[in-house]
Amino acid sequence: MSYKINIGLEVHIELLTSNKMFCMCKSSFGDIENTNVCPICLGLPGALPVVNKEAIKLAIKTGLATNCNIDNKVIFDRKTYFYKDLPKGYQTTQFYNPICKNGYIKLNNKKINIKQIHIEEDAGKISKNNNIDYNRAGIPLLEIVTQPDFENDEEVIEFLKLLKELLVFCNISDCKIQEGSMRVDINLSVRKSNEPLGNRVEIKNVGSFKAIKNAIKYETNRHINLLENGQHINIETRKFSENENKTIFMRNKEKPEDYCYIKEPDINKIILSKEFIENIIKNMPILPQEKRKIYTQKYNLSNNDTDNILSNPKITNLFETLVDMTNKPKEIANLISNETFKIIKENNLDINNIYFNTNNIYSLLNIFLLNKITRETFKNVFYEILINNINPISFIENNNLYLIQDENLIENTIINIIQNNTKSVEDYKNGKEKALKYLIGQCMKAFDGKCDIRLIEKLLIKYINC
Ligand SMILES: [Zn+2]
Repeated sequence: MSYKINIGLEVHIELLTSNKMFCMCKSSFGDIENTNVCPICLGLPGALPVVNKEAIKLAIKTGLATNCNIDNKVIFDRKTYFYKDLPKGYQTTQFYNPICKNGYIKLNNKKINIKQIHIEEDAGKISKNNNIDYNRAGIPLLEIVTQPDFENDEEVIEFLKLLKELLVFCNISDCKIQEGSMRVDINLSVRKSNEPLGNRVEIKNVGSFKAIKNAIKYETNRHINLLENGQHINIETRKFSENENKTIFMRNKEKPEDYCYIKEPDINKIILSKEFIENIIKNMPILPQEKRKIYTQKYNLSNNDTDNILSNPKITNLFETLVDMTNKPKEIANLISNETFKIIKENNLDINNIYFNTNNIYSLLNIFLLNKITRETFKNVFYEILINNINPISFIENNNLYLIQDENLIENTIINIIQNNTKSVEDYKNGKEKALKYLIGQCMKAFDGKCDIRLIEKLLIKYINC
């Protein structure tokens, strides 16, 4: 019997605003517990929320980036439930009137429809020693809800990667799944072909792309086994244990009426002006999928280089500025893929804290492209620019790193080496490529490494064949 799988996602992302959704408390990760709190986000009686305009802008930006219709009315509701990390006893959300509706993201081979995107606030967090940290309570979230259009784990991962790329690129969220700024709930059902949708099981808060893949595989098999044995699939909420590689029952699925949704009485309906929305539209950047086309088709870059360049807006900006200055996209892509990421990884740096001095990087690139320094020197000086923001011209001069430019000296040295290594010259003439490498090595030694290796090779072959 063949089965069909339907998967829908609910993706929560924390917005990159400086303040919380309804108060002026700092919205940040990793601060000392309960230091970013106030009467509003602690839900003290009488405290009144004030809507964060920046969060509304970012929600609209997300809607535009995902082809949604944007509602000009912003209305909030209360979702009531009792849990110790929810100080108010309710979460302020948008149940009846989400700000964005009916969008989509295009995968390689299909379109995934987005049902809605709504704004809500985060709850607090229970720390390892069982304290409650309310720093997270009130941080603005978006919940992105898709239709059950996915048919396998690969489509889910492709979608999440594109969504993450989009949100990071547009400075909407940093989407750090390990820090909880991107959280994914999976809704999965299995049915026999040509039957209506099966009973849906929700898997909450799966913590990595790998875990998402494994959770989908496990849950699909569990459903198929139950169906094969003629058993009923319970509508329930489960969690995924990465250690045991299986999903575990958490609770029966709540119904909307369990949450007693009501209109939020403390926040008036906001009507967004046409200018407000148009201004956001006007300032939308060219989106990564569009840029991807330019990079691969016009610049002929590999997918790996393109992924690297689009992984962070600062890197994209660096790439485009340098391409404008040099018109050498391949070399710049290479520099970013091979050197920039290597330096960042080896030194455990945060891209957001690096100052990319494009003028200095451009000067260095020019010197390198004119064959005035070796590739090794280029890498070392590039490192110095990123870490210490040095001036490459004076650094190269002060450290005597320029390649030898004196043609007579180069030619005479090479002729000398040919005359003193007749055995190797003979070997090379008899087809031993290794002998040429040895001769190149001898020349490099004579020049103390400061000569263009390609020039040496060219001249050696020329004089050997004379
Ligand atoms: Zn607060």
